[in-house]
Parts: sequence; C-alpha cells; structure tokens
Amino acid sequence: MSRFMSSRFKTLEPYVPGEQPSGQTYIKLNTNESPFSMTGDVIEKAVRLARPYRLYSDTQCTELRSALSRVYCVPPGRIMVTGGSDEALDLAFMAFCSDDVPALFPDITYGFYKVYACVNRLPFEEIPLRDDFSLALSDYAGKRGTVFLANPNAPTGIALSLDKIEEFLFSRPDDVLVVDEAYVDFGAESSVPLVAKYPNLAVIQTFSKSRSLAGARLGFVIANEELIQDLNTLRFSTNPYDVNSFTQALGAAVLEKEEATRKNCLTIQQNRAWTVEMLSRLGFKVLPSLSNFVFARSDRIDGEALYLALKEHGILVRHFNHPRIRDYNRITIGTMNDMKSLENALKTILA
Ligand code: PMP
Repeated sequence: MSRFMSSRFKTLEPYVPGEQPSGQTYIKLNTNESPFSMTGDVIEKAVRLARPYRLYSDTQCTELRSALSRVYCVPPGRIMVTGGSDEALDLAFMAFCSDDVPALFPDITYGFYKVYACVNRLPFEEIPLRDDFSLALSDYAGKRGTVFLANPNAPTGIALSLDKIEEFLFSRPDDVLVVDEAYVDFGAESSVPLVAKYPNLAVIQTFSKSRSLAGARLGFVIANEELIQDLNTLRFSTNPYDVNSFTQALGAAVLEKEEATRKNCLTIQQNRAWTVEMLSRLGFKVLPSLSNFVFARSDRIDGEALYLALKEHGILVRHFNHPRIRDYNRITIGTMNDMKSLENALKTILA
C-alpha cells in the first residue's frame, strides 16, 4: 500500500473474484459463467446497430430498456440498466442504506454485499443461515434495515419461493428488499411480478449467466419508478455512461433470442440433475440447487484438498475459505462433456 492510500480504505478487504486463468486451458467450473457462446448473428447485429463510438453511449439505454420492457412485461420507467448487476448492487447499497438504516444479509451469501457495505462505510449485519443453509425470514423480524437476498442464494444455490418473498415484503413495508436474481433463470421463481404491488422491492438481474454475456458487463434493476429514480440519482452521480454502446446493442440483440436462452437454461437444469446424481453416487452431500451451480462436500476429502486436486486435473471449481463452508466446493454446471470430465477426475481423486 502506498503512503497516499486514503485512511478511509486502509483496512478495506476487496472482493476476491474467481480465477480467470490465461495460458493453460482449464475446464472452468469456478465462476458460474455460461458454457454456451453467443451466436454470431447476435454479435453481427450488435455491431451494425451500436450507436457510433464517436458519440457517448445513451445514458437512458432507451432501446435496451424497451427490449427489457417487452420481455418482462414491465413499463420502461420501472427499469434501469447498469454495467453488470454488481454495479446495480453497489448503487442499491448507496441509495438505500445509511448510518441509521443498516444493510442486512445472510452470513453465507454473495461476498460482494459485505464489500459494498464496507466501501460505502455503511453499517451492516450478517444474519446466520440455519444449519442446513436455509434462510428463515423470522430471523429478520424486529431488525430494521435494507435487506439484500440473493435468490437463489450463492454459493448454496438454495432458493426461496415467491410466497416467502411476498410474506417478507408484506411484513416489512417500511424497509427496502433487494432481491438479487443473478441465477433465477435456472429454475427459481422471479419476484418481478411483485414489483407492481410492492413499492419497497427492487429486483436485480444480470445478462452474465443465462444470457452468456458475463464479459459484456450488463445488469438491470426492475423496481417501482421512485426506487428507480433514487438509483439513477446515484448512477448519474457516479458513472452515467456505465453501459457502453456496443453492450447496449448486444443486450437488445440477445433479448430477441429468448427461445435460445430458455433452451440453454433447460440444458443447464438437465446437466445439473445429472451432476447431482453423479456426485451423490460418489458419496457427496449436495445442497438442493436451483442455480447453474451446485454446492457439494464429501466426507472423504477436505474441501480445499479437492479444489487443489481438481485443479491438478485441469478443472477449476470455487472453494471459499469461510469457517462454515470450508468443506464445500461450488461447481458450475457446464456442458455434459465438462461434467463427465469432472466425474472422471473425481473418481481418480477419490480412489
Ligand atoms: N449476484 C450474485 C449472487 C452473483 O453471484 C454475481 C456473480 N458473481 C453477481 C450478482 C454479479 O454478476 P454480474 O456483475 O456479472 O452481473
């Protein structure tokens, strides 16, 4: 650290992204990316339709918001587009938390929530998940604050039903609930239909997973107009040109391929079912996942040792050094070829 680093951030612990190795080619099952590539015609269309690069990008993301409006049946005024859903989350921490409104989120969840609370110098409370990693909404009763829930949760993959989310919203009319639906397209229920009914709900989604655009950095928020306005106040105070012209065009083009997106999500769900069965057969305990990853542990090998052994076999998975989940690894669901390579590697390692 240089002597010029702000004293406000000297102890900041940044988010640690999953490895993105260059050089050796791994089977990458560590960052929940899609194994399917964007089709060439989507990219060609985006190249053709992108606003000239000489000009700044459209800060309103007009075309993309109308495409999202069509797909999600929500008026464009209830939609805001961001540079990845990470940016939307950061804006939500800034907009809806303060010294007297802490951020509340589970102890085992997306690691960025804690980082956003810290970098924005906001009070926060991590509320422990139950022993089976389920989330009991009653554990939040009596605690005021803005709640951040990943649904399905990461890295567990466990989802809450829409009924539970609605019960939560109903019981907390004076607190904002931010539902992070990065993985919702792989079998969970989306809270988007509740936005029309609950002015305190913000739903955040991403193009990174089901729509194969992790590298383009594209996310969006669906919430009532007032919450969107608040988020835009922060967005226009930090980076109004956050979504570049090509990415906006790419997002609009991929939304015309909803059938292909649905098919890819279905394939992931089928591959997930196969993987859960395979892991169970090899003696793993696998949490019930509705995401494009599974969270699994084996009594026969320590979590970190398995992560390292798989790496030796050319397969990257994600291991978290947190006391409650040290025994587990998070494994992204890839193609059937990827999952069969995983099976072969596991059989060798466990033997
Ligand atoms: N939320 C969760 C739960 C995630 O796992 C991720 C991906 N790391 C994100 C949000 C951020 O996704 P992106 O910024 O690529 O949209």
